[in-house]
Amino acid sequence: MSLQNLLDLLPDELESLAESLGAPRYRGRQIARWVYQKGVTAIDEMSDLPRAFREALAERAHVADLEVDLRTPSRDGSEKFVWRCGDGARVQSVLMPDRDRLTLCVSTQVGCGFGCTFCYTGTMGLERNLMTGEIIGQVVGAMRVLGGARRPTHIVYMGMGEPLANYTATVKSLRLLVDQRALGISPRRITVSTVGLVTAIERLARENLRVNLAVSLHAADNSLRDRLMPVNKGFPLEALLAACRRFPLPVRQRMTFEYVLLAEVNDALEDARRLARLLMGIRAKVNLIPFNDWNGSDFSRPSLPRILGFQSILLERGITATVRWSKGEDIGAACGQLREAVPA
Ligand code: SAH
Ligand code: SF4
Repeated sequence: MSLQNLLDLLPDELESLAESLGAPRYRGRQIARWVYQKGVTAIDEMSDLPRAFREALAERAHVADLEVDLRTPSRDGSEKFVWRCGDGARVQSVLMPDRDRLTLCVSTQVGCGFGCTFCYTGTMGLERNLMTGEIIGQVVGAMRVLGGARRPTHIVYMGMGEPLANYTATVKSLRLLVDQRALGISPRRITVSTVGLVTAIERLARENLRVNLAVSLHAADNSLRDRLMPVNKGFPLEALLAACRRFPLPVRQRMTFEYVLLAEVNDALEDARRLARLLMGIRAKVNLIPFNDWNGSDFSRPSLPRILGFQSILLERGITATVRWSKGEDIGAACGQLREAVPA
């Protein structure tokens, strides 16, 4: 029988596991503390558990942590991690320091099946979904690698893959992030980015997780969005915006709309006006992402005046709009640049 990965289990499930081994439920809470708060991976080191219980537990379970395959620092202070999963698959996370914030960008799939034309990850196709333990393992692994001194303060689901296409594992990993018995990170500091899967957004709305949602828009009309993002043919803008309007936003929180700026494609002032009209009545902020180039892409980044011109149209219309200069561009870790290099 294969061993259960403790990183795949919620605190309640750890308690049930303890109970199934004949121990009191609070032993499960102790396990959670070792795994998530102390970052211990060897069951034998969980010293406040009775020896016999540790032995019984080790016959049923283990901590399948991710191994660091590569750690690449960028000139701008960010850092890319390549992790190796149990089956040899490789996934990436990016760590981005910004004053007192330390943001970790995690992956949810190996590759991605949505094929957005401007995205490098999209050229891989989907290899497989990550398990909950492999998503949360990126957070626990980064904490382990960084040592006790620094912990990620913010988590964004913007790495490889589409989080809401791996719905069950993503939601379970979110529960582990926010659970005080596990990682205890405030949901306000967690953002899930989606390509716009309407039915999954509606389902997420009912989970009562209170995490931030970022929606990848990239075009303000259907014909252009159809061309850039094939997903738009199934979930066009009207349906997507309707789901966004219904999404329960906590007070004082706004929904983020991501917009990759592609020269001569979606960066005209008229596009900005159309975008402003589309977002009317939604508590929205817009994140403009100047295109990050990759080898073989059909797009380029607009000039700085054009980027700022686009932004000012939104600002004039009362929409908060920031330009996100991606981090880690020199190490292939910027938005949309993640793709696992074929091993030599
Ligand atoms: N699949 C999810 C999350 C991962 S991508 C999504 O699509 O939202 C994170 C963000 O990077 C998305 O907004 C995506 O559209 C954007 N992105 C993809 N390729 C890019 C590129 N080459 N340059 C800049 N941003 C890019
Ligand atoms: Fe997938 Fe997001 Fe890239 Fe589109 S932008 S191909 S959904 S990772």
